[in-house]
Amino acid sequence: MKISVIGAGQMGNGIAHVFAQNGHQVTLIDITQAGLDKGLATITKNLDRQVAKGTLTEEQKKATLAAIATATDSAAGVKDAELVVEAATENVDLKLKIFRDLDANAPANCILATNTSSISITRIAAATKRPGQVIGMHFMNPVPVMKLVEVIRGYDTTDAVTKTVVDVSTAIGKVPVTVNDYAGFVANRILMPMINEAVQTLFQGVGGVAEIDAIMKLGMAHPMGPLQLADFIGLDTCLAIMRVLHEGLGEAKYAPCPLLVQMVAARKLGVKSAEGFYVYTPGSKDPVVAPAFRK
Ligand code: NAD
Repeated sequence: MKISVIGAGQMGNGIAHVFAQNGHQVTLIDITQAGLDKGLATITKNLDRQVAKGTLTEEQKKATLAAIATATDSAAGVKDAELVVEAATENVDLKLKIFRDLDANAPANCILATNTSSISITRIAAATKRPGQVIGMHFMNPVPVMKLVEVIRGYDTTDAVTKTVVDVSTAIGKVPVTVNDYAGFVANRILMPMINEAVQTLFQGVGGVAEIDAIMKLGMAHPMGPLQLADFIGLDTCLAIMRVLHEGLGEAKYAPCPLLVQMVAARKLGVKSAEGFYVYTPGSKDPVVAPAFRK
């Protein structure tokens, strides 16, 4: 299948990687050449890791890289696509514009999928003249490792389009699970309130950062505590998703914790800004609790 991936960031480069590794022709699109170079460097580094682990041969690595073309001109980059997976920045206006452009430039029978974490598929679909062919394809981070693809049907998404997306997800080694389009879908509807509640627990002084994460790791067998996970996802992203839940579902229980709002205002965004609930020092594998939360 000919696949175009919009956005070469954290998610887009992983999506391009798994499609190319499984025999698809991929065009990876970003607004700058620097963004594309960074995305390709990440793909190469991740393929090298697979070769070192013995899960991929050197020939498979070369074939994967050879299957990925790049473009900064999105109109040219989607002109032959059968499936587009959009993984650009999480911003409604940006996504609506990208889908209007995709509708104008991609072939009429092309399926338009979005990897959005929380924005309504139905709203994105309404920006096009082919809402039946618009669908959510929510990959998990890191894409080459995580098995789940949450497939989200918008109000108008057809059965045939859903089946194609489920089949292609299975063929690239993922496990698709299909759900309907309400704020946060299933993954973030359940995960984000848990993270927000962990922040609330910290805010009320029930426990410290290390205690809250230790309880959820050891007591619930979670691989990482909710505050460390929030740092990985990005506190700005967590806040944006809580706002979508709060607005979309209209219940007070989804209001973002004031501490989360405050930390985003202070640009303490987690791993990407080197400080969130923990401090991340280059070269050190073990983050330490941030000064603001030390006893
Ligand atoms: P990111 O910031 O790492 O990457 C976004 C990329 O999109 C950047 O390279 C940017 O240059 C590019 N971009 C912006 N506007 C563009 C345009 N008009 N055309 C082409 N490229 C454009 O973000 P990310 O973490 O990869 O997130 C991408 C999407 O995936 C978001 O919708 C996000 O909600 C979703 N998502 C993220 C995660 C996660 O854990 N990070 C998980 C699941 C889904």
